Amino acid sequence: MAIERTLSIIKPDAVAKNVIGQIYTRFENAGLRIVAAQMRQLSQAEAEGFYAVHKERPFFKDLVAFMTSGPVMIQVLEGEGAIAKNRELMGATDPKKAAPGTIRADFAQSIDANAVHGSDAPETAAVEIAYFFPTLAICERKCCGCCCGK
Ligand code: UDP
Repeated sequence: MAIERTLSIIKPDAVAKNVIGQIYTRFENAGLRIVAAQMRQLSQAEAEGFYAVHKERPFFKDLVAFMTSGPVMIQVLEGEGAIAKNRELMGATDPKKAAPGTIRADFAQSIDANAVHGSDAPETAAVEIAYFFPTLAICERKCCGCCCGK
């Protein structure tokens, strides 16, 4: 499987619950490396731009209000099949439907306050990574061989 990069956001509800470390541990245990990270309070314009694809949806206004309600932790994850792997770790959008042991099943409250974001395809990953990180902010990291051998 190819080495990929994906954009991950730990949303305000999970940051407020102080579970950044627990979520990072899940990424690392799954063989994903954090190659860039920043904690940010998103502006309304940034949240609207990030979720522009949803701007006609009925939940858009509430989603932007939620994403700007407190700091978020934004990271680029790298590893074999990173996009699908992260989506698997996250679980379904609605935590009530998320498989046991997934991040959303364990840490999310509701479909709107659902703990994490993860890119859903290579094209969206590229756009979303560039939205928050200049190329120079992404580190080259070698794996020690414990997870993916690269
Ligand atoms: N969302 C919501 N209500 C809905 C559907 C989605 O508030 O009925 C929010 C939720 O925070 C979700 C985000 O919009 O994570 C983006 O929706 P998407 O369908 O892309 O889900 P995801 O890719 O995050 O699982």
